[in-house]
Amino acid sequence: MTGISGVLRRQSVRRAGSVALVDGGERWTYAELDRAVDRYAAALRLAGTAEGDIVAILARNHAAYVIELIAVNRVGAVSLPLNWRLHAEEIRYVCEHAGVSLVLADREFREKADGCGTLPGLVHGPAEPSEDPLPEGWRALDDLLREAETAEPRPDAECPDDGLQRILYTSGTTSRPKGVMHTNGNVDANQVGQILELELTSADRTMVSAPLFHVSGLEAPGLATLRAGGTMVITPGYGGADIVRLAAEEGVTGLVLAAQIIHDILKMPDLASHDLSALRFIVFAGVPEGVRRAVHEALPHVRLIDTFGMTELCNGACYMDAAHTWTKLGSQGTPLPYVELRIAGPDGSPAAPGTVGEILVRGRKVSPGYWRDPEATAGAWRDGWFHTGDLASTDEDGFLWFVDRRGNMIRSGGENVASAEIERVLAAHPAVAEVAVIGVPDPRWDEVPKAFVLPRAGASVDAGELRAHCERNLARFKIPKYFELVAELPRNDSGKVLKRLLASDGPAPGKAAEG
Ligand code: ATP
Ligand code: MG
Repeated sequence: MTGISGVLRRQSVRRAGSVALVDGGERWTYAELDRAVDRYAAALRLAGTAEGDIVAILARNHAAYVIELIAVNRVGAVSLPLNWRLHAEEIRYVCEHAGVSLVLADREFREKADGCGTLPGLVHGPAEPSEDPLPEGWRALDDLLREAETAEPRPDAECPDDGLQRILYTSGTTSRPKGVMHTNGNVDANQVGQILELELTSADRTMVSAPLFHVSGLEAPGLATLRAGGTMVITPGYGGADIVRLAAEEGVTGLVLAAQIIHDILKMPDLASHDLSALRFIVFAGVPEGVRRAVHEALPHVRLIDTFGMTELCNGACYMDAAHTWTKLGSQGTPLPYVELRIAGPDGSPAAPGTVGEILVRGRKVSPGYWRDPEATAGAWRDGWFHTGDLASTDEDGFLWFVDRRGNMIRSGGENVASAEIERVLAAHPAVAEVAVIGVPDPRWDEVPKAFVLPRAGASVDAGELRAHCERNLARFKIPKYFELVAELPRNDSGKVLKRLLASDGPAPGKAAEG
């Protein structure tokens, strides 16, 4: 029974003077971070926060965000990191659905926070200038922090394993976001697993560049690094070049990078001039093979770790180990500690190695369900297993080979085609920078693949050439019937292509070329 608050308490004794957190020019030792968390916890109590309350955070990545995540746990409340790219209307939906009782917001998001309705809130930073007062029910956090300095100390809330630590709304790649519950036990299991898999120690300095409202930022593994006694370096969501610069300056040892950021980094003309010798590992998911080889060429000393994970599994369920990075290229590795994984055949029984089926997971990392959504919970948590909705196979050695989301499978002429397979083939074409494939209705075949292709800068390519490339590499029924050249693919914050938006556009007249 510790929670992330208890982890920091322990480290503040063991490693009092070591640097725990770096944000720009500011640094917090473990003792300083623990004191800051105490003060924020007192401020939260002054604002009326009680055990079990839900506290939303609407902010960019910065030190106060990290402190708040831990302080909310210290008072026994539940944090709800909000995606600041959402519209006010979507924010209102999440706040109302979740039952948020307090909002902590960056000043720049104050207007968006109005989407939270009449909820009370605290704005990061000093009091508002008198010509622009805060609305009713809102206060400046700094004022409360000052009051908190003289507040009577209160014991830390107990953080039982099955107690809620946070609610994280999913990326919304396929549908309206669902509130995934993470218990203290889920978070513990994830971080202990990361420490073992990533061999995190007090010498590590890992960077959190993905947004803290997404599981890949929250568990980047910045918090696991604190658990290991190392240093968390936080950034307000930079692009690739800034991440590389900061990683070099801060001697960062571990990064988690979205595919988009890796593309940016590889394009940097001066990549070699940055000293990334301290960097030990980069964790990523779903990066094409050619890109992985390019990263390896540029940074041969860095361990590249492919993963399979999702919000419901409290981040990664499988990591690739160092010994098999290249012999099992394309696999996401084997399950983390506390993760039991099964590939289910059509009747739900375990599928034989090499057979594609749905990934089922159970164990301490698996969320207990979707917040206030018994129907969606009952749909995915069945027979003691969480049903991921993702398709994969495992090989004879138990390595996972991700195929696609079930919803992304294209049913064409009685065959099931994985959009990801066609994407892999097209991504290997030298003129293709990015690609997404969806199924579009077809009177004869039910569905046919359609490819949206973003050409590489300066490269020229047409549908005929792309089709010829597919003919050399794919069975006939997998070859896209349509190719559309695009200037951009719609992506969400984790860099994932929003295929539902591509599908709703339909074939654009004049743009879609039948190959
Ligand atoms: P929503 O559930 O709201 O539609 P989302 O599923 O994109 O959003 P996340 O939990 O961030 O939200 O993403 C998990 C999903 O990402 C997995 O279910 C899987 O489909 C995909 N994924 C995870 N690992 C990989 C990988 N290595 N390669 C390709 N896709 C992956
Ligand atoms: Mg999902």
